[in-house]
Parts: sequence; C-alpha cells; structure tokens
Amino acid sequence: MKTSEVMQAWKSILAGRRPSLSIELTRECPLRCPGCYAYDPAHLGSGSSVTLRQLADYKDDILVKNVLRVVDEHQPLHVSLVGGDPLVRYRELEALLPELDRRGIHVQIVTSAFRPIPAHWANFKLLNVVVSIDGLQPEHDARRKPATYERILKNLSEAKVTIHCTITAQIADRPGYLEQFLQFWTERPEAKKVWMSIFTPQLGAEGPEILTPAVRSAVIAELLRLRPLYPILDMHESALREFLDPPHSPADCIFARTTHTVSADLKTVITPCQFGGRPDCSQCGCIASMGLAAVGHHRVIGSLTAGHLFKASEVVGRNVKKIFKSSRMRSVAQ
Ligand code: SF4
Ligand code: SF4
Repeated sequence: MKTSEVMQAWKSILAGRRPSLSIELTRECPLRCPGCYAYDPAHLGSGSSVTLRQLADYKDDILVKNVLRVVDEHQPLHVSLVGGDPLVRYRELEALLPELDRRGIHVQIVTSAFRPIPAHWANFKLLNVVVSIDGLQPEHDARRKPATYERILKNLSEAKVTIHCTITAQIADRPGYLEQFLQFWTERPEAKKVWMSIFTPQLGAEGPEILTPAVRSAVIAELLRLRPLYPILDMHESALREFLDPPHSPADCIFARTTHTVSADLKTVITPCQFGGRPDCSQCGCIASMGLAAVGHHRVIGSLTAGHLFKASEVVGRNVKKIFKSSRMRSVAQ
C-alpha cells in the first residue's frame, strides 16, 4: 500500500466511512465449484432462508445506475466486483468501468474467466482483474468446469491479470505442487502476479477442502520459502506470517471492519466479512485480511501500532458520522 493510499483510507475512516466496498454484482455464475462460499446456505446470514441464487438481482441500465448510486453513497476508495461471476454482466461492466475510473476509484473484478477478458480493459489503470485458478490443470479442471485451463488461457490471450489460487486440502500437501504452480504462471505472459489464499471454512464445518492445522503450517512455511524464489508471488513476508495467527474474531479483523459488502439485490449486507455466515477466523485464509493485519501490526512509534491508530480513528469516525447525521436531522426538522 502506498503512503498516499494509507492517508486517503485514514481520512475516509475519520469521516466515518469504510474505504472499501465489495459488490456481488450478480447472483449468477455458470460454475458450480465445490466449497464456494457465495452459494453456501449460510452466506446471507443464518436468519435468512434465501440463498444468493434466489436473491433478486439487476441487469442492463438499471444495474449500472443502481451500482453507481451505491458507490456514490459510500464513496469508497476501492471497489471489488464479485459474484456469482461479474463477467455474466460484461455488457454492464463496459458501462460501469469508465464511470468508476472517472471517479478515481480502484476496481477489482474477481472472475473465473469463463468468457474473454476484453483487451481494452488494460487501458483502465485503476483496474485489476483477478482470475481464480484452483491449482494446476487436472485439479482445477475437476473443480471449475466449464472454466477449464484450456478455456481460461484462450480467454486471457489479450489480458494482463492477477492469478488467485485458493489452496484447498486437495492440493495442500502434495510435495512441490505450489512450486509447480508458480513455475507455470511465471512463464505465462498473461499473469502479472500471483496471490494465494487458504480455504476458509465456516465455524464447525467439515469438508474435503479444509486444511488440518499441521498442513496449514506446512503450506505457510512453503510459501515463505517460495516467495524470494518466485517474484510473481506478490505476497509480503509479513502478510504471510499473519496466516500463522489470523485475526481472532471479525471485531479484530481490519479487513472486515473497513469493507462494506452488499449482495446482488444491492440491499442485503453480507456480514461479518465477504464470506458471510459465521466464518472460522482461526482458520481464515483470506489474503486481504492477512495483508491488512500486517499493516495493523506495523509499529508507528514505540509500541503504538497502525492497528491502534485505526481503532481510535474508527471511534472518531463513528462519532463524526453520528454528529453529521443528527445535525442533518435537525436541519431537516427546522
Ligand atoms: S466461480 Fe466463484 S462464484 Fe462461481 S461457483 Fe465458483 S467459486 Fe462460486
Ligand atoms: S476475513 Fe477472515 S479474519 Fe476477517 S472476519 Fe472474515 S474470516 Fe474472520
């Protein structure tokens, strides 16, 4: 994170806003990946009987207009467009991206690349397209058909993207596997950088994706070994070390506290973080959460950390917001 970005984010927190907005642009996705958190029954909250696939969503001009309304209301510095798969709404993205660029907002689109990434998107300097790849071809293709390696490589032929791999138990303890993955993508001109997350379960969940504590520790040690050997692995050492001791709860997670997530109806708020439901923070593998935890643990002066400043600023921001709200209400009443 650049100093100017930290200062902007801080200003935003002091004003009582969350600097990051994540929007589930559509309820639709042509894939059916096992372990997908977006379609987990708990995603929209345990009190909800509705799942993402059943939620009302928008398309065409009304989607563009409503997304911009939400963006203008929240005034984020960073917007993540997720899903479902946001490329289902690629026509609407063609209208949204120039508008978000004009507002100076950093945008991230997270997709399976089941359809081509337009070459002209490379002209948006504030845009990062993140393509989810679950390991090397045999394991990935088994999980993410129809977005197979063959199809993805064709669809990325004119693009420059970030490759994001979620490490599941199925690939985590294979000797040399992560290194082979990094070797493969280092040689591909489409890949600007590689990010890795670790599969994050819900509390009490069981499933073949979940890593045991021993395998998780071995994976982190392997990533720390690979980092200096493969510069394409764009993960700071301090962020990798945070995986060893993730935030203890959502209240402790700077990422969860600085990101507002709305689902496809643009009303339902996903809490406590993008996973929804009751995620198991002790097994969190989210790269964004670990990156911000590392920033939070950075010492500013003596034992004072950036995290202490963040918490204090958040309290100030909440009060500033309350004061503005009540003065607005008073001026409406007058
Ligand atoms: S591509 Fe993403 S949203 Fe679609 S099923 Fe797979 S994990 Fe879920
Ligand atoms: S991002 Fe991870 S640590 Fe943060 S609230 Fe979600 S599960 Fe917990």
